[in-house]
Amino acid sequence: MIYDIVIIGGGPAGLTAGIYATRALMKTLLLEKIAPGGLVITTEKVENYPGFAEGVNGYELMEQMIKQAGKFGLETISEEAIGISQKDKGFHIKTTLQDYQALSVIIASGTIYRNLGVEGEQTFTGRGISYCATCDAPLFRNKEVVVVGGGDAAIEEALFLTKFVKKIYLVHRRDKLRASAILQERAKQNPKIEFIWNSVINRIYGKSKIEKVTIRNVLDNSEQELNIDGIFVFIGFEPKTVFLKDFVELDKEGYVVTDYEMKTSRSGIFAAGDVRSNALRQIITACGDGARAAVSSQHFVENLKNTGYNH
Ligand code: NAP
Repeated sequence: MIYDIVIIGGGPAGLTAGIYATRALMKTLLLEKIAPGGLVITTEKVENYPGFAEGVNGYELMEQMIKQAGKFGLETISEEAIGISQKDKGFHIKTTLQDYQALSVIIASGTIYRNLGVEGEQTFTGRGISYCATCDAPLFRNKEVVVVGGGDAAIEEALFLTKFVKKIYLVHRRDKLRASAILQERAKQNPKIEFIWNSVINRIYGKSKIEKVTIRNVLDNSEQELNIDGIFVFIGFEPKTVFLKDFVELDKEGYVVTDYEMKTSRSGIFAAGDVRSNALRQIITACGDGARAAVSSQHFVENLKNTGYNH
């Protein structure tokens, strides 16, 4: 079986591409490592996706996108793409279990959480260190925790955590937040959040669970100790593009370079969403990218078939 389009990744970009591709009657397969939904499913409340005046739970929003794509016949398989190659006019997508063939591929593999990279992080991941407040906040009821980061995710998740924890030390490496103004304002007004500026985590200590951290001020190198029960890390993401190395052009941080039609450096391969270089990295823009990539991919496939490709 040769698919018209294989989509790699089942977040908002991949699912939207799936909706557009199947509605254009392309034979389409979506590959996702575990289950579709993407990182959004861990967000308690999405406030800036148009059409939901009261906000919408991330899991519920993605559940609807999955249903919608399924309704138009999108085939979904839970396998991780680990390699891709070009043979004749088609592409071979290698997963952990088998190979799939397609005339065109849309890369919507998204990003993964960036780690702190400090001593103790590996030991305590899942035992006090978390990358998802929605998932783990109830475990820290009435406890004191550190949140690391200064972007939208760190502030949004810290605000969510305040419903559960006694106190949050928000550790940020600069003296200005990157997060949107409305979130900054809410965090600064929240009495449970104490900001520790110009600082990074140096080391994490504990026996069977986290007991304390040392925080280093990056301006004067002074250190302080905090007795805390947990650490929530929100310091951005890294692209999931290892399987694409040397296949399409990546920027210096590893994101896929595209033009405005979502074309990559290789004809027939398109990219959409957070994995794309210079993307805004919002749900709405991922959806927009997904729609554009699907239409570009559809035109590519139709053109290939019109010029005599037979499969
Ligand atoms: P981000 O915007 O890249 O912010 C990452 C934060 O972590 C920055 O404050 C950065 O500091 C800090 N940081 C990076 N590397 C670090 C390190 N090694 N040690 C310590 N701190 C480090 O990432 P994000 O907040 O996860 O958001 C990702 C994207 O999703 C963004 O486009 C964001 O707007 C979007 N998002 C939007 C919403 C929303 O609209 N409601 C919610 C969540 C996420 P510097 O500031 O000094 O660089």
